[in-house]
Amino acid sequence: AKARGRNGYRFYAMSMTGEGVERLRLETWLRRSLEKNEMFLNYQPQVEIDTGRLIGVEALVRWNHPELGLVPPARFIPLAEDSGFISQLGEWVLAQACRQMVLWQEAGLVVPKIAVNLSVRQFERGTIVFTVGDILRRTGLEPHRLQLEVTESLIMNTGDALQYINGLHALGVSLAIDDFGTGYSSLAYLKQMPVQTLKIDRSFIKDIHADANDEAIAIAIIQLGKSMNLAVIAEGVETDEQAAFLLRHGCNQAQGYFYSRPVMPDDLLQRWRP
Ligand code: C2E
Ligand code: CA
Ligand code: CA
Ligand code: CA
Repeated sequence: AKARGRNGYRFYAMSMTGEGVERLRLETWLRRSLEKNEMFLNYQPQVEIDTGRLIGVEALVRWNHPELGLVPPARFIPLAEDSGFISQLGEWVLAQACRQMVLWQEAGLVVPKIAVNLSVRQFERGTIVFTVGDILRRTGLEPHRLQLEVTESLIMNTGDALQYINGLHALGVSLAIDDFGTGYSSLAYLKQMPVQTLKIDRSFIKDIHADANDEAIAIAIIQLGKSMNLAVIAEGVETDEQAAFLLRHGCNQAQGYFYSRPVMPDDLLQRWRP
């Protein structure tokens, strides 16, 4: 409501629906979020189920706006993608995540791997391979410790996806297919791509004990991963029953509230530093 008095907002407010105004306001604020230091990263541990060992973390972006408070990524990532701001934001996330790996190491915690989400829009400019290479050089993080998470729709909807993914692979970073099973993927693509990891989507894990279909899908993904020599990690693991199920069916990697919520860098250090 406050923003409405500012330049031009009143005009737009009269001609747009409430939703449109809200969207425009968010978009304007979003564009300034980086310079105002409103963005930060949380990190969610990825663990080996049988040993409880830390095998990696996923970087998850957070937006703390002075008026709105914490805005969930589900609300601002699509907006950032539509407006093109995601290129800038994504680059910031990558650099920040890589820097954090070095900081943890200096503080005595070697996190084996950091996973960073990439959006389809970050591939469209054709500079993604250069950008990632540059950030690795600048931060000094070993390429094999960076994993990029891409979705099936990113792969299917990007014209030169294979070329970029080969380029990223050549840098020495690894690739994971996020939310696996929810998109329109072609298994033929999977065969061509230098991908190392499949992430089973949370939607299949959630009701794994009650829903025979979810159970069958999870098992099928684990088998597929095995036969293609890919690592398989389950996301959204919230109970020890789910973890036990995964282990029983040959999946030994998990991420989810059962192990830890996404946390601040210092919390991760406190919990995992030897
Ligand atoms: P995602 O990549 O599938 O990330 C996993 C989401 O599941 C995260 O939500 C995480 O907090 C949540 N989660 C993890 N474990 C559990 C669990 O046990 N139970 C439940 N209910 N949820 C769990 P978050 O952080 O809100 O992020 C939502 C989505 O926003 C992400 O889904 C990802 O698609 C996107 N996102 C987040 N950070 C970035 C980023 O830096 N770049 C891009 N392009 N997208 C991002
Ligand atoms: Ca992800
Ligand atoms: Ca995911
Ligand atoms: Ca998911």
